[in-house]
Amino acid sequence: MYKTVLLFCSISLIAAAAPPAPKLVVFLSVDQMRPDYFERYGHLFQGGLKKLYTEGLVYTNADLNYASSETGPGHATLGTGCYPAKSGILGNDWIDPDSKRSVYCVEDSAAKPVEGNGGGYSAQNLVVPAIGDWLKEGSKESKVVSISSKDRAAILMGGKRPDKVFWYDKKNGGMVTSDYYMKSLPAWTKAFNTSGWIQKNVPDSWTKSLPEAEYVKIGPDEYAAEEPWNESTVFPHLFTPEKKKEQIMGTPYGDMFLVDFALAAVTGEKLGQRSATDILCVSFSNCDYVGHGFGPDSHEILDLLVKLDRGLGKFFDTLDQTVGKDGYIVALSADHAVCPLPEYNAQFRKMDAKRYLYGTEIKPYLDSLSSLLKYEFNTSEDVIIKNSFINYTLAVKDGWDSVQLESKITNGLLNIEAFVDVYFRHELLSDNVSSKPFIQKFRNSYYAPRGEDFQYRIREHCIIASRSAGTTHGSPYRYDTHVPLLFWWNGVISQKIDREVHSADAAPSLAKFAGFAFPKNLDGVPLKEVSR
Ligand SMILES: [Zn+2]
Repeated sequence: MYKTVLLFCSISLIAAAAPPAPKLVVFLSVDQMRPDYFERYGHLFQGGLKKLYTEGLVYTNADLNYASSETGPGHATLGTGCYPAKSGILGNDWIDPDSKRSVYCVEDSAAKPVEGNGGGYSAQNLVVPAIGDWLKEGSKESKVVSISSKDRAAILMGGKRPDKVFWYDKKNGGMVTSDYYMKSLPAWTKAFNTSGWIQKNVPDSWTKSLPEAEYVKIGPDEYAAEEPWNESTVFPHLFTPEKKKEQIMGTPYGDMFLVDFALAAVTGEKLGQRSATDILCVSFSNCDYVGHGFGPDSHEILDLLVKLDRGLGKFFDTLDQTVGKDGYIVALSADHAVCPLPEYNAQFRKMDAKRYLYGTEIKPYLDSLSSLLKYEFNTSEDVIIKNSFINYTLAVKDGWDSVQLESKITNGLLNIEAFVDVYFRHELLSDNVSSKPFIQKFRNSYYAPRGEDFQYRIREHCIIASRSAGTTHGSPYRYDTHVPLLFWWNGVISQKIDREVHSADAAPSLAKFAGFAFPKNLDGVPLKEVSR
């Protein structure tokens, strides 16, 4: 009896201490953000990134845990808590196994423009629900809004049936949607699009926010392997006045635009200011655009982060006023990270890093492998189709079995310096123990109905590029799959946690924190520290 009373008392105390469910879940993605940006530049942040990093829960060892480190899969995993093998979004693009046509992850020819703009995209290819769908399943009055400069980021974080999804249209310099989501634009969206934001807020040139000494510590501004932006790789970056609509994407001003649009959405939809819990997903794309061009060690990336930090500071300050400090929780992660410029890694980090030019160092070898196989099978038909599928029937006709054919293809591919391993469909679909490095990451990326007959793994620290400048991501290596994962709510006890977690954990953690149900069969799990 005595014990029972004590137990009852302690439960009551816990219940009394727990704050109420948040009115707004703010789910942020910074496209291509590397976690080491916080370690390298955290001391220079004064705004929203500082708030998350110094006051919040910081998971220092968050990984995608799958191989296809691209934007489509990354945002689908953040939104759904599922790896690409379940979400169906196995790449930004894939080749349809039946028609052999290239498919873009959010394409939808049935999705029409709304009031003359947008259209063409929807979540029809996403095969599982996302956090917004989970919320709305049990709370019809909740609103889910997802926005990004990129269609695929906004759409895939938003899930199957969000209330509103918007992405940026370079042609008209405004935020657009498709009729999959709505038949007409809300008044607040029209008002934002006609507010002259670009004219009022984008200066004549992109200049540095911090004293030059902070940038010099990184290295030179000018570096040969940087991709010129408007014909230059050094600050100040001059805008062409009549091209600002296109050019703000690729600069920090594209993210500032999105901060203000997100705030317009909070006001316009009264997000977090009603009786039900709402979700706002925002994916900032310009870390990716700038990172692709200048690399993660550039003055440009540092300056972009400093400006994003200030923009997020303004964003959170405004939420404190409109929703209230106690009214919201924030999660920040990324869809993938990025490989440094291989030339920079080779020169300054003494790594065995290399850029392979597709036109001269990859394609001719793939072509000669293709010709060799045609010769061996005495056929005019392609044995390897679109570098993705294998014409197994040809081999069988010729008396070969699939094992012999695959071994021939493996040898041919591994003769190409850039490739170090090949994974075939049956290996990716099997759950047999395999000694092949990285196979589990490839399996987690492999959605069978849309999967190729084989995939290859590129040499570590190397990229395949069409040009001699810029860098990319997409590999299963740590530099591409290690992402930030941070949470903040009013009252959170600041902690750095180094246990391995995954970006797929973000959505179920937010759902559990906010008190709504989520599916049982996710790849992600709710993180125990994300708790009221
Ligand atoms: Zn991305």
